[in-house]
Amino acid sequence: MLALGRKIRVLSKISAEIHSFLSDSIIEKGGVIFTNGDNTIVKFTPDLYSCNCTETSYTPDTKKLSEIINNTVSDGKLFFAGFVHSHPNNSNLSDEDIAYVRKVLSAIQSPSLICGIFDITKNILKLYRIYPYKIEVLTCH
Ligand SMILES: [Zn+2]
Repeated sequence: MLALGRKIRVLSKISAEIHSFLSDSIIEKGGVIFTNGDNTIVKFTPDLYSCNCTETSYTPDTKKLSEIINNTVSDGKLFFAGFVHSHPNNSNLSDEDIAYVRKVLSAIQSPSLICGIFDITKNILKLYRIYPYKIEVLTCH
């Protein structure tokens, strides 16, 4: 779970992994991110199972992602923080992205989740923290 009101950090190794996985295709792709319990993102697991992605949409296989998340957090050392996915030429959240994260938020009863958007064209990763009623931009680099 993400502590409220505290900065989120991303290990540079993980940031590089996210960039590398999401930038090698024009097809939208994504994955899930985990923290160490201290608001630091320490793990990225690419979603290799969602095959109905196109140049304009990333549609996660939610059943497979749930399995990945449950397996990763099962030993209590890592915590589910949210999602990252690519967009072809902007790093803004779409209405669908916001609706999806809000749905997950209410299902897992977490106070907030991260949704990262990687702009394929500009090679920029932007992180947003989504609360049930609010969106906060975390990093932009
Ligand atoms: Zn999106």
